[in-house]
Amino acid sequence: MATCGSYCCDGDFNKDDVSTTRTIESCLPLPLPDEILEDIVPKAKDFAILHGAGMRYRSNYDPDSLQLAPFFLLPSAFPRREFDRVVKLQSIVNILMHRIAHDYQFLKDALEKTIKVDDFTRRLWDIYTTVREEGISQLISLGMFRCDYFYSVPSQIAQQVEINTIASSFGALAARISVMHRYVLGEMRKPELLGHLPENDALAGLCGGMIAAWDAYGCPKAVILFIVEDVTYNICDQRFHEYEIRRQRPDIHVIRRNLTQISQRGRLTSDKRLVIDGDEIAVVYFRAGYEPGQYHSEAEWEARLTVERSKAIKSPSIHYHLAGTKKVQQEIARPGVLNKFLSDSEAKLVSQLFTGLYTLDMSPEGDQAVQMAMDNPERFVLKPQREGGGNNVYGQEIRMVLEKIKDSQEREAYILMDRIRPPIQQNYLIRAHEPVKLVEVVSELGIFGTILGTAKDIQFSKFAGHMLRTKLSSVNEGGVAAGLGALDSVFLFD
Ligand code: ADP
Ligand code: MG
Repeated sequence: MATCGSYCCDGDFNKDDVSTTRTIESCLPLPLPDEILEDIVPKAKDFAILHGAGMRYRSNYDPDSLQLAPFFLLPSAFPRREFDRVVKLQSIVNILMHRIAHDYQFLKDALEKTIKVDDFTRRLWDIYTTVREEGISQLISLGMFRCDYFYSVPSQIAQQVEINTIASSFGALAARISVMHRYVLGEMRKPELLGHLPENDALAGLCGGMIAAWDAYGCPKAVILFIVEDVTYNICDQRFHEYEIRRQRPDIHVIRRNLTQISQRGRLTSDKRLVIDGDEIAVVYFRAGYEPGQYHSEAEWEARLTVERSKAIKSPSIHYHLAGTKKVQQEIARPGVLNKFLSDSEAKLVSQLFTGLYTLDMSPEGDQAVQMAMDNPERFVLKPQREGGGNNVYGQEIRMVLEKIKDSQEREAYILMDRIRPPIQQNYLIRAHEPVKLVEVVSELGIFGTILGTAKDIQFSKFAGHMLRTKLSSVNEGGVAAGLGALDSVFLFD
């Protein structure tokens, strides 16, 4: 019988002892008997693949076949109180990001030093100042955000890992895995557990945002443009967005182009309408453009500038993109900043989401943070201004990196963050072509939010669904595509 959720370790948790971890119980007693596993694993795999929980092969890319996306057999435990808390706060977090993005001076002060040493952020900044000086032709922005959280064992609350303002992925696949876990628990004859699995309408929520933006643009013939990578491995997640838009609104057409194609075939009309291959673009949804490697040459940067100059409603607009940088996240967490953008009561609630974030600027404050990280590297994560996973620095490597850059401005390209310690639980990892494995894991909750509006007039700000990514507890980062993490869903416990 499931007794999900009670903490197993007793005694005082020493905040400073990073080797101390706590485990939580899985939603069912594990390991499962062999005969149950042999029955349920093929059923789960079939359900997943038949409902589109797939990805393209990274090696031997083949447009004619899909492989099963990695996933966990059972939903992972997450405390209900904290789930409810971050869900409730999402609409306020959306508004916070919207207001930050529209505060030129705040962004300038926050990023001033970063853009001197980080070329990618500088190029984004240059696009922003260019379109700002020319006069921004579309005042409405569409936010499709995802805030990521770990439940922290020492503080016993959910703490924010980061806020994504560009290319927040897995809304579609997360919703499918939620449904698969309902099926799995049903097949295991545990219907009494279904009340622990929250509904997840992430796909409908995110697509609803794009549709509202399309309506706001107000041109029935115009289309939605997905800006995509040259090769899309996470194709199911993206395509389901297209199908959901079509399901909700058969009158709206979606086209997909990469930045190179936009540079070759996109143009602006004299009144700043964006036209690609004859289609006027109402809404631009970026699923690429968040990392330097996606801009192969000046042509792709030109394409980004063309898009930003246009009247199309962008998700994200360039100022939303900048608001989502790690440096801005660190500046938002400074005492008193939230009160500039939110009411006192809202600021208080949002501030509780943050863990310690520290500037590495060339200043006494920055010197202190460097020293703190060198003294206790296991307690921190060192983050450059990059998205997409695999860029952060952990443990002893922090010391090595800081040793090299601590006396130069190069360190201003990074921020320092307290390392969050999530609880460990067990689950079965299912990956294509590999035997199912019982592993120790930690889970990161993503909360989606949508917002639409101008600086002064917000049409809506909503919670738009959730996702759970779970990774081996032994790894620092568990990218789903990299194979160390996998899709999961939430099993709430009290
Ligand atoms: P990215 O933009 O590359 O996704 P993140 O800040 O989300 O950058 O970091 C990537 C991953 O690193 C996270 O998904 C999480 O697993 C891990 N990570 C990031 N920050 C922390 C932290 N403060 N504590 C523990 N793990 C972290
Ligand atoms: Mg992330």
